[in-house]
Amino acid sequence: PRVCATLAARLADRGAKILTNARVQQLKRTGSGWTAVTTQGEVEGDFLITCAGLHSDRAAVMAGERREMRILPFRGEYYKLRPDRQHLVRNLIYPVPDPRFPFLGVHLTRLIRGGIEAGPNAVLAFAREGYSKTDINLRDLWDALSYGGFWRFLRRYPSIAWFELRRSFSRELFCRSLQRLVPEIQPADLATGGSGVRAQAIAPEGELIQDFSLIARPNALHVLNAPSPAATASLAIGAEIVAMIEKDNP
Ligand SMILES: Cc1cc2nc3c(=O)[nH]c(=O)nc-3n(C[C@H](O)[C@H](O)[C@H](O)COP(=O)(O)OP(=O)(O)OC[C@H]3O[C@@H](n4cnc5c(N)ncnc54)[C@H](O)[C@@H]3O)c2cc1C
Repeated sequence: PRVCATLAARLADRGAKILTNARVQQLKRTGSGWTAVTTQGEVEGDFLITCAGLHSDRAAVMAGERREMRILPFRGEYYKLRPDRQHLVRNLIYPVPDPRFPFLGVHLTRLIRGGIEAGPNAVLAFAREGYSKTDINLRDLWDALSYGGFWRFLRRYPSIAWFELRRSFSRELFCRSLQRLVPEIQPADLATGGSGVRAQAIAPEGELIQDFSLIARPNALHVLNAPSPAATASLAIGAEIVAMIEKDNP
């Protein structure tokens, strides 16, 4: 939170205005610029950048783009190592990633404020903001089920999708993945942790898009896919996007 607060203060110093709790409902071209209709009123600007994470494809469509790829939500669930077993992990421990997938695989992370996190897995969620197993959103579900790319993804990788679903419901299976990194970890050492949802763009052919995906237009730029490490690298990505825009709009 302090990083965000510092960034917000620096932006405010430069005259930027940050609107929170303002859902964009419509994006309209007005003359040579744009108007964003939000739940906090209308905002006008010369240049539009959309970067809406789990809703990035929908935001681009609002701005008149065709929806060629689609966002599928992959929930990442965590466990926490119980305090009396935390001595088993003294560093960050990662598996060798599977190059077919953008997800790293479950790993062990020492947290800055103490404690050890184990995860995340990557299980298909039934809602874009489906942070728990029981979250279902019919619009999001229909969006996935009506997309050929989703079915092609399942046909390509049926065993992975099925394994992730089973592991999501089984502490033992999750633990087995961790035991490849630290054999001493036992299911009883794991307490349920939090979760996050990855916005993963899927191409019509069913491939998970592993790279950043941007659409650049004369007065708009849409970030469609920003996979990890887009958070760690966010300042560098922001600088790159600004450089792209300045180059095209001298
Ligand atoms: C479990 C998990 C672990 C991860 N681990 C890492 C990691 O270790 N390192 C790393 O670098 N990355 C990690 N990531 C990935 C990282 O979170 C993303 O790459 C990054 O957040 C993408 O940034 P973004 O700005 O594109 O999207 P987001 O961070 O999702 O931001 C999009 C914003 O748009 C807003 N929005 C959406 N629709 C609208 C609308 N209609 N109107 C107004 N606002 C809207 C959303 O509320 C949100 O605030 C992880 C992700 C998950 C889920």
